[in-house]
Amino acid sequence: MSIVLFNSLGRKLQNFEPIKLGQVNMYCCGPTVYNFAHLGNLRTYLFEDVLRRTLEMNGYKVNHVMNITDVGHLTGDNLGDANTGEDKMEKGSKREGKTAWEIAEMYTKAFFEDFKLLNIEMPTVTPKATDHIAEQIEMVEKLMSEDFAYETADGIYFDVSKWSEYGKLSGQKLEDKKNGARIGINDDKKNPQDFALWKFTPEGETRQMEWDGPGNRKGFPGWHIECSAMSMKYLGKHFDIHCGGVDHIPVHHENEIAQSEAANHQPYVNVWMHGEFMMVDGKRMGKSEGNAFLVKDLIQKGYDPLAFRYLNLGTHYRIQLNFTWEALDAAQTALSRLKIQVAKLQGEGSTDGNYFNKFKACLNNDLNSAEALSVVWEVLKSNIADENKLATVKDMDKVLGLNLTAPLNVKLDVSDEVKNLLDLRAMARTEKNFAESDRLRDQIAALGYGVKDGANGQELTKL
Ligand code: AMP
Ligand code: ZN
Repeated sequence: MSIVLFNSLGRKLQNFEPIKLGQVNMYCCGPTVYNFAHLGNLRTYLFEDVLRRTLEMNGYKVNHVMNITDVGHLTGDNLGDANTGEDKMEKGSKREGKTAWEIAEMYTKAFFEDFKLLNIEMPTVTPKATDHIAEQIEMVEKLMSEDFAYETADGIYFDVSKWSEYGKLSGQKLEDKKNGARIGINDDKKNPQDFALWKFTPEGETRQMEWDGPGNRKGFPGWHIECSAMSMKYLGKHFDIHCGGVDHIPVHHENEIAQSEAANHQPYVNVWMHGEFMMVDGKRMGKSEGNAFLVKDLIQKGYDPLAFRYLNLGTHYRIQLNFTWEALDAAQTALSRLKIQVAKLQGEGSTDGNYFNKFKACLNNDLNSAEALSVVWEVLKSNIADENKLATVKDMDKVLGLNLTAPLNVKLDVSDEVKNLLDLRAMARTEKNFAESDRLRDQIAALGYGVKDGANGQELTKL
């Protein structure tokens, strides 16, 4: 069955063909580890996880590389003042009174804990920018030697006017310096869109993270160069898929294409895929916007992190998703109902080919996970044998990653009334008074909770 994906390069749906038979080389821009990842960031990693699992379902071996940005991402880079501002790592270090290295380690660990909670598969390799300084310097020097880069007082810049295809991803035109376009803080730049490949440590300052590099001064890499240098190292100069959030299209990815293709004299990536934003009240969820929630907020409020995964599966990755607690409640209720139905199924059966193909066709159609979810419900409502339902749903869950055969993972802070009813029900069950136990279960349900009897006793879920 063919796979159709939306390629941001050319803005069209395309049949996916890997460069190497049976294998997909895929690079996903990873986190800047100066703080916790918020739910918006995680939406992007969830879409990438569904992409990877879909490719695996189709029999591909996926080589998934995700970088850890632990140096060089400046506060201005995301605020329209590219190449300016403070290094986010050094900023995090001041905020928390820890070294930049400690900050990086702490938030990298926290990031992968979120991956576990959201059932996101670990990438094959997670290279850190600070472990690949030599590779980045080598690339900057190559670009300088071929006249694609030039030195200014504060760093080495890529000259976008030397790269005739600049703008091919986003469709933007080169801005004319003379027509009043803003150059930003560095007036030595030749063109407004020229971007830093390497920044010098400012005179009189010592940074925690700095290296000898081009220009014979201490410095640190620009934000974009790490992704080109590391993707090339782990996936080759030309690979299949590169992903990130939509904000990366006009700057980060446009710049990655320019510097990589200029340095390597060959195409860089075949398919560029971008996930749309998670929003809150019409605004992008973001740290600087002050509207960011974290996975630990979900847990504290009594949600299973996988309810957030379910919520994401319900909206196509190229459509903005407005985050609300009501929507998350609905997702948790749906997930809980799904799990309760799956828990009733027993036996060793086989996967129903028709339903599974229908499910696969949804995902192969540019990752339509919402339709794929509706096929799971169809299976549960169908009249195929219970053991085959179970086998089919288990296979589908390999892509959905909802842990459908496990109970909901919530630490519910329930009222004394519910606790009391649970105690009474446990007693009724020890006395084998099942009529009473069922009556109490209905009473608990009326208060908004489902109760199931598992290996560890009564398990409570929010309805
Ligand atoms: P950062 O750590 O800022 O480099 O962001 C990590 C990833 O999250 C990038 O791929 C961003 O495009 C993505 N991202 C940032 N904000 C959002 C949001 N509100 N919704 C979805 N993705 C986002
Ligand atoms: Zn990147």
